[in-house]
Amino acid sequence: MEPHKKNEEVCLSITDIGTGGEGIGHLEDGYTLFVQGALPGDEIRAHIVKAEKKYGYGKLMSVINPSPDRIVPACPIADRCGGCQIAALSYEAQLKLKENRVRELLVRVGGFSHEHIDGIFEAVRGMDLKDAGDVPVRFRNKAQYPVGTDREGNIITGFYAVHSHRIVPADDCLIGPESDAPILGIIKEFMHSNNISAYDETTHKGIVRHVLIRTGFATGQIQVCIVINADSLPHSDALVGRLSEFPGIETIVTSSNTGTGNVILGDDFKVLYGTGYITDRIGDVSFRISPLSFYQVNPAQTVKLYEKALEYAALTGTETVWDLYCGIGTISLFLARRAGMVYGVESVKQAVDDAVENAKINGMENVRFMYGRAEEVLPEYYESASEDQKNPDPSLHPDVIVVDPPRKGCDAACLDTMLKMAPERIVYVSCDPATLARDLKILCGSGDYELTKVSCTDMFVSSVHVETVVSLRRSLEKG
Ligand code: SAH
Repeated sequence: MEPHKKNEEVCLSITDIGTGGEGIGHLEDGYTLFVQGALPGDEIRAHIVKAEKKYGYGKLMSVINPSPDRIVPACPIADRCGGCQIAALSYEAQLKLKENRVRELLVRVGGFSHEHIDGIFEAVRGMDLKDAGDVPVRFRNKAQYPVGTDREGNIITGFYAVHSHRIVPADDCLIGPESDAPILGIIKEFMHSNNISAYDETTHKGIVRHVLIRTGFATGQIQVCIVINADSLPHSDALVGRLSEFPGIETIVTSSNTGTGNVILGDDFKVLYGTGYITDRIGDVSFRISPLSFYQVNPAQTVKLYEKALEYAALTGTETVWDLYCGIGTISLFLARRAGMVYGVESVKQAVDDAVENAKINGMENVRFMYGRAEEVLPEYYESASEDQKNPDPSLHPDVIVVDPPRKGCDAACLDTMLKMAPERIVYVSCDPATLARDLKILCGSGDYELTKVSCTDMFVSSVHVETVVSLRRSLEKG
């Protein structure tokens, strides 16, 4: 392979896409180039801006021959905003790309054969479209807008550019609800007229850092959370006066975050208006959601995702089930309606409190929620319970374990205890196929479990992220 140098101009075909949405292609000698903004199927000219021995990074100079799947995105800032990396691909091509990524990782990282995966892969479920050729918009119920100041000193809100903390101003995000823009407008106006500064990361000065807006699509209830670099927001009464009149705003809170890191929310919340939480419904189950609690971002697809998890759990009404990484108990309550008993584990206190309340709201008594990390709670629970051979405790050897971890996947200690608990079925819900594949290798590599079904649900339209649910069955010879 030829060594390549910075500032070289090259032409290449893009064949793949990376986890950050960057196009990936190879030069004739095999040298790999990562090019932001280039899409699979494009033939491009790029300028090498950073060259390592075997790979480098290129700046997209021009698209010589566009991919047949390229479209003009509806969003005017799609090429600058870091939020939607594949907005310029047709929806069909987006879905194909996600499916292929999951297949490829299950084979390469998970160690499964192509034939096995082909035999059990269900069609990816995209969003329902009004017209073929559409890319869905306005599907997301939550956004976190960084607040800053432009060169002229105006307060701006928007989204971070790719790989940076430079704010691309955006008053209306096309994937979020239309009500976000006027809410941000009120907050900017309030800051302007009360002389409240936006936070500046470089100097660590200024007050307002982020605005989080979450909207219950079923109930219309809106939660506004203002993240501040202070203990309290000056003149907050004036803001509450204006925002509380806005249709749907149910609660307004501040989150105090005086740290210098990238974490958005601080731990200290103050309720300025309402109760602090909103309520939403998924199907006919109601959920209370606090600002720190996780809640799936695409309501139309969440129902499909949970139905798939429920289908794979194959419950008849009597089973004992664990729901690890349970958040506010969404999957737990869906399961509880068809199970004997459900145990949920979650590491965010506000979310566990929400989960307990949610069981009450929906009148479900066959659930128990535990606060803590799954990799600590589960082993401790398992080890501390003494086994009584005559009277086996079903919670130690459940019928089903459902896991839905964050992107980093399950901790080894958690997987290890799951194997010891030896449930008949494991349902793994994953937002990162790379860690899913890694964890499946552990669960199936031991020969204890067989991967029996894989399905993807598109929760994150126009982004490279993909949600996968898989079903594992305890191997017959182990049963
Ligand atoms: N199943 C829920 C939540 C999934 S998101 C739903 O569909 O709504 C993942 C959840 O795992 C988040 O609520 C997060 O707070 C929680 N979490 C993260 N790390 C954890 C850990 N080590 N142990 C338990 N829960 C964890």
